[in-house]
Amino acid sequence: MKVGYIGVGNMGGPMCRNIIKKSNHAVTVFDLNPAAVKTCTDLGATAAKSVAEATKGADIVMTSLPMPRDVEAVTLGDGGILANIGKGQTYIDLSTNAPSMVKKIGAAFAAKGIAMLDAPVSGGTVGAEAATIAIMVGGDKKVFDDALPVLQSFSANVIHMGELGTGTVAKLCNNMMAFCNAAAASEAMMLGVTAGLDPQKLVQVISSSSGNSAIFKAFSERALSGQFTPPSFALNLAHKDLHLAMELADELDVPLPQGSATHNLQRMARKMGLGGADSSVILHVYETVLKKTVKP
Ligand code: NAD
Repeated sequence: MKVGYIGVGNMGGPMCRNIIKKSNHAVTVFDLNPAAVKTCTDLGATAAKSVAEATKGADIVMTSLPMPRDVEAVTLGDGGILANIGKGQTYIDLSTNAPSMVKKIGAAFAAKGIAMLDAPVSGGTVGAEAATIAIMVGGDKKVFDDALPVLQSFSANVIHMGELGTGTVAKLCNNMMAFCNAAAASEAMMLGVTAGLDPQKLVQVISSSSGNSAIFKAFSERALSGQFTPPSFALNLAHKDLHLAMELADELDVPLPQGSATHNLQRMARKMGLGGADSSVILHVYETVLKKTVKP
């Protein structure tokens, strides 16, 4: 198959490189950042000069872009995917997008007879490198089945959730939970450290106790080192995800007290100028208030 891949940053980069390394699919890459493109062309991908060039002739066109507005511009904007894609081609969005934006883009593509899948991913950059990420997919089952070999070339856990948009809803549920876990981890670490515990021993205890979570390993490494840059998952992107979850909750009238508290915590960290740091930097809000660090 021919794959057009647009957006090869922290997540898109390793996912794209796994397609190149682990399959025979021919990959054409486009990103605004030439250095990011080079990490893929070094492994055999072809560089495209535009979204149009990455789209034309590809069986599957994929995007992994930061914000819903970026996905909108790249799909529906001038010279975007929709203007350059034709019958028989499939569009797959791997970004964490807004469910409403997924539906808007899906409808525009459907009007031209083009199938779309929303396929957000989870597992972080480590999972993306190791091809162990989960991909939660919404869209037509036959289109999903046809795209499965490509998705499986960079993920061991591909799950079809249902109609278009359901992958994105699953992703927002997962991420809200992960961010709430990180907020709870921040509070536990600050309480323990303030009470005089050795932070390394506290991490050791929690890692083998009921407070442990998938997010805790990466979180505690950042907390103990005090290194929140460069980001593996930027706070600005995490805040976007939680914002989208809160929007969905408003729409459906679902109360989310933990989610909204964590969203406000992320907002505080952003107001402290930390939006470009790793999302685990929410810890720094507590460190600043308490005038002490988890880092020994
Ligand atoms: P990133 O900022 O590292 O990468 C995004 C890439 O898109 C960049 O290389 C950027 O140059 C490129 N880009 C932006 N606008 C573009 C355009 N108009 N045309 C072409 N390229 C463009 O972000 P990321 O962390 O890789 O996240 C990508 C998506 O994956 C986001 O929706 C994020 O929420 C989601 N996600 C991230 C993680 C993570 O751990 N980083 C995990 C799961 C999901």
